[in-house]
Amino acid sequence: MRTEIATLGEFGLIRHLTEGIELKNESSRYGIGDDAAVLSYSTDKEVLVTTDLLMEGVHFDLTYVPLKHLGYKSAVVNFSDIYAMNGTPRQITVSLGISKRFSVEDMEALYAGIRLACEEYGVDIVGGDTTSSLTGLTISITCMGDVEKGKAVYRNGAKETDLVCVSGDLGAAYMGLQLLEREKVALKDSQEDIQPDFAGKEYLLERQLKPEARRDIVEKLRQAGIQPTAMMDISDGLSSELLHICTQSKVGCRIYEEHIPLDYQTAVMAEELNMNVTTCALNGGEDYELLFTVPIADHEKVSEMEGVKLIGHITKPELGCALITRDGQEFELKAQGWNPLRGTDNGQA
Ligand SMILES: [Mg+2]
Repeated sequence: MRTEIATLGEFGLIRHLTEGIELKNESSRYGIGDDAAVLSYSTDKEVLVTTDLLMEGVHFDLTYVPLKHLGYKSAVVNFSDIYAMNGTPRQITVSLGISKRFSVEDMEALYAGIRLACEEYGVDIVGGDTTSSLTGLTISITCMGDVEKGKAVYRNGAKETDLVCVSGDLGAAYMGLQLLEREKVALKDSQEDIQPDFAGKEYLLERQLKPEARRDIVEKLRQAGIQPTAMMDISDGLSSELLHICTQSKVGCRIYEEHIPLDYQTAVMAEELNMNVTTCALNGGEDYELLFTVPIADHEKVSEMEGVKLIGHITKPELGCALITRDGQEFELKAQGWNPLRGTDNGQA
């Protein structure tokens, strides 16, 4: 079934896609339906705003990404940025550029993903725009959130002797992308109608197609009374994000290869592709885990925390940023690729 978007028109489409949306947050005073949404944040909060623009063919490939997953992910990556400031996401606006290739049903699928993400994270859709596009699909999401006054965590607060921590595990989303790219090529080359076999690699696909934002970690830190000194989410790879924190905080760091958290499936897939798994964890993007630093006084509390790993410490700026390998060698961290251990050139994110 395919309904042309023209049959509904722009306003009809927005009305159709946003039908039944109920506002959940106190700060969402008025949502869709007027010239602007009305938000009212209490004075003991600071307001966070982040935005993300995704272009078909640049940021996503619809040959293997289902529209519902794309919608979910587009919303969640914005939530992740708000959590990375130690905040809580409250509202989003969704703007779409849609080419004639897409039907009303396609946009329903995309919106179903966005709405599911909003439901799971307690976020309100308060506005947006749609327009026709000549070059495929464009998705722009802006997210607003709040954080208690004085509690926002920036990238520039890491201090010498702080501990470097990371949530979850790294490199799996990048391995998921490799897997999908590999299947895409295989399917294109093959004459028969074969189904890709992803058995045993479900986790990698999930990490690539349906990432989650680490609300749970931000809550746990709050409950434990830990205020990170610096924090960001890992969207471009651990190396590059660590360098952001160290540059902005004017410090150096040492992280240890043996402490970088990896999933078993990530290691197996890296081996299959003849890639160095540490390189994948350092440079593969889209993990949406949290990278943060805490004062050394919080060592005990943070080391007891489930889902958090201590991977190193902050140093004087003169010492630079380096990885200590399992055999004790020191390598300077680079934003793009970590050459000495790269198995193939494919290791680049
Ligand atoms: Mg970020």
